[in-house]
Amino acid sequence: MSVRTTCPYCGVGCGVIARPNAATGEVAIGGDPAHPANRGRLCSKGSALGQTLGLDGRLLHPRVNGQRVSTDAALDHVAGEFQRIIAEHGPEAVAFYVSGQLLTEDYYVANKLMKGFIGTANIDTNSRLCMSSAVSGHKRAFGEDVVPVCYDDLELAELIVLVGSNTAWCHPILFQRIVQARQQNPELKVVVIDPRRTATCDIADLHLPVRAGTDVWLFNGLLAYLDSHGHANREFIANHTRGADETLRVAHESAQSVPETCGIDVATLNEFYALFAGRRRVITAFSQGVNQSSAGTDKVNSIINCHLLTGRIGHAGMGPFSVTGQPNAMGGREVGGLASTLAAHMELDDATHRQVVQTFWRSPRIADRPGLKAVELFDAIHDGTVKAVWIMATNPVVSLPDADKVKAALRRCELVVVSDCFETTDTNEFAHVLLPAAGWGEKDGTVTNSERRISRQRAFQALPGDVRPDWWWVCEVARRLGYGEAFNYASPREIFAEHAALSAVSNHGARAFDIGELADLTFDEYESLDPVQWPVRERVGTARLMESGRFYHHDGKARFVATTPRLPVNATSPTHPLVLNTGRVRDQWHTMTRSGRAPQLTAHSPEPYIDMHAQDALLSAVTEGQLARVETRWGSMVARLKISGDIPRGTVFVPIHWNVAFASDARVGVLVNPVVDPISGEPEFKHTPARVTPFVVNWHGFVLSRTPVTNLDTTWWAIARGAQFMRYEIAGRDRAPDSAWARRILGAERCELDWIEYSDTTAGVFRGALLIEERIAGCVFVSTRSDLPSRTWLSGLFAKKRLGEVERASLLNGGPTSAMEDPGPMVCSCFGVGRNTLCKTIATDKLTTAQEVGRKLRAGTNCGSCLPEIRSLLKQSL
Ligand code: SF4
Repeated sequence: MSVRTTCPYCGVGCGVIARPNAATGEVAIGGDPAHPANRGRLCSKGSALGQTLGLDGRLLHPRVNGQRVSTDAALDHVAGEFQRIIAEHGPEAVAFYVSGQLLTEDYYVANKLMKGFIGTANIDTNSRLCMSSAVSGHKRAFGEDVVPVCYDDLELAELIVLVGSNTAWCHPILFQRIVQARQQNPELKVVVIDPRRTATCDIADLHLPVRAGTDVWLFNGLLAYLDSHGHANREFIANHTRGADETLRVAHESAQSVPETCGIDVATLNEFYALFAGRRRVITAFSQGVNQSSAGTDKVNSIINCHLLTGRIGHAGMGPFSVTGQPNAMGGREVGGLASTLAAHMELDDATHRQVVQTFWRSPRIADRPGLKAVELFDAIHDGTVKAVWIMATNPVVSLPDADKVKAALRRCELVVVSDCFETTDTNEFAHVLLPAAGWGEKDGTVTNSERRISRQRAFQALPGDVRPDWWWVCEVARRLGYGEAFNYASPREIFAEHAALSAVSNHGARAFDIGELADLTFDEYESLDPVQWPVRERVGTARLMESGRFYHHDGKARFVATTPRLPVNATSPTHPLVLNTGRVRDQWHTMTRSGRAPQLTAHSPEPYIDMHAQDALLSAVTEGQLARVETRWGSMVARLKISGDIPRGTVFVPIHWNVAFASDARVGVLVNPVVDPISGEPEFKHTPARVTPFVVNWHGFVLSRTPVTNLDTTWWAIARGAQFMRYEIAGRDRAPDSAWARRILGAERCELDWIEYSDTTAGVFRGALLIEERIAGCVFVSTRSDLPSRTWLSGLFAKKRLGEVERASLLNGGPTSAMEDPGPMVCSCFGVGRNTLCKTIATDKLTTAQEVGRKLRAGTNCGSCLPEIRSLLKQSL
């Protein structure tokens, strides 16, 4: 059996074919060649989806106050408490905090229950954290939250500008499509605008390392340049837009200070401006680096302004392109999953829209004002105004800014309900009620990707235990609240049909989001629904929008928005001289609850890190490989210092993924300032004043063990799951671990066991290994220095059926003998090819291209996520 479904990670929305093997219980994963988003390819995360399945760590039964209860008891408790709190304090005292991981059908019923039946718009989503500035920018410019372009436009463009987007790591299949487009069209130019030199710069003809937070200056400068150099499309401006004059005035005003403010020299700026001016088919793709800012909405509009001025929108190969972070951020926008919108792209502050939706839902009431946006919502929980919250498929204790305040808020909250697939997350700890939710492979419904393409996510596994899909839990609570008739759905198809029907009500082309023709899909048609881009007309999707030059404001015209530049709210200071920037790593997803289970994904970045410029490191008295503390006014965290050479001076980068399940002290959310964009409410994740100080420890070490280790009790630790072992990086301030400690940790206290060890107390070095039936069962390495032996080499020993004398000796020596290979840090996760192997082969075989490397080592030939690193090694070798 094979099932066509969709990847649950990023907004590219790749088609996946899952082939469950009933005999082994394993699921083979491949890309769907028929899916238009990926045409058969998957990145490292998508390829490893099979490793994230299984019941280990799953939440299988409901719990109330820590006790397992029946499903009915849990539902009665949730409904009863919501009812009590609403009766005592009104509907504004309750809230939902949902997620771009939900399917559209889940999202639809959650939004319907809150806005139409409970009567509050206090439902917000973690998509607020990643793309709500794009939503606000689209609405201001176009009159509706619409993405004008499609992925095919990337292949038709003459210039692709990637702004605030590490596409190579965060949207890898789109990146692969751009790489391929460049191979087919050498005239295609790529500009990357990012303070960091990311893997995406691998294909850049030009990289502009702008100072953090200065994008509006840059694009105002571009707008002024286009105007001054005769590139304004006067006919388009006159016929299809409003507001150009004031916008140009503001742009010309700020244009003078662009080089100084952005930190880019005039020649480089002009090179970019001339590239943009000289090519008609231009795509400006942007992502979190633009959105996650206190000026995020203005940044979006400053980009759109340049496309409106030149009329480069609505045609093949051109337009502004918001690339969404999450798999169903777009689906959430369609149903009104944000506190600031209604449903089907209708607005809360429009009385006609409210009437349309209320009539359609036949609901007793309708929310008549926007609800609390994510940061405001948790502030209101903290203040006690909101007394009950139902959190679905998200981990706000890790992901929200000022995350310790979020913890405090949940601790004070009268009722915290959490629906999740997994038993232990940072947020579950605060739940009064835990509801077991269906995960990827069990869920059934639809998602919408960044190019408005609706795809089916199909189930291929049975629901285990008391696990149910999110839509079912919501409908059951709605029934208990007395709204059974309106939530009487037998399947996600029925919810989808209602959602599709609502999109067409009182529409007549006024709203772009219209999938009314899919409202009468039969069960079989829904089952077999092919990916389709909205709006849908005559059952056919629409590749790009606004081709006729008609926009979605009442007068059909787009709006220029004058964007007066402003710097981030919190400036650096002598006590906090660095700017903290946060983002993703190549092979992990969000808070790692799913991707952290896949050994293939942990090898590339096995522990949290802090990346900074060498000179800043020197001034902060920290050195590469040592542990360091990053501190801001809001909190602090500890991780290993890396000096990649890709970070500009004055900036420090920390990945967003690690949390208490994977590291002792690496929740970057606790550091991030809770400042938000005044329009979108999106937090400023890319700019928090910070300082870095040494985190002094007396010793460093690691434990690799085939069985989990539970009682490490060290000052600092980080965990990663290897293919045949668990990996524990450790460090301490107390006495360094010795033989007794190591034997206890690995369960080797009995003296008859095959235990080998080396100890040099003067040098502070200890190495111990337990062998069972000549296989390595676990090992402990400790040193006063942080340059410990290669874990990749040791992972090779774990793959062996028995260790010979040479390998045993190498364990005691603390490194491979000359006859043994140390692959080095992992580069290609798919085929397990490390940096040492790559460098050695490139040098000995005189390889010059990634294709040659692929032919020789297979590295880079599966998902391609490691190709930028391989090309970088080739460049270094040359
Ligand atoms: Fe999934 Fe990777 Fe495709 Fe994103 S690019 S949808 S993570 S396979």
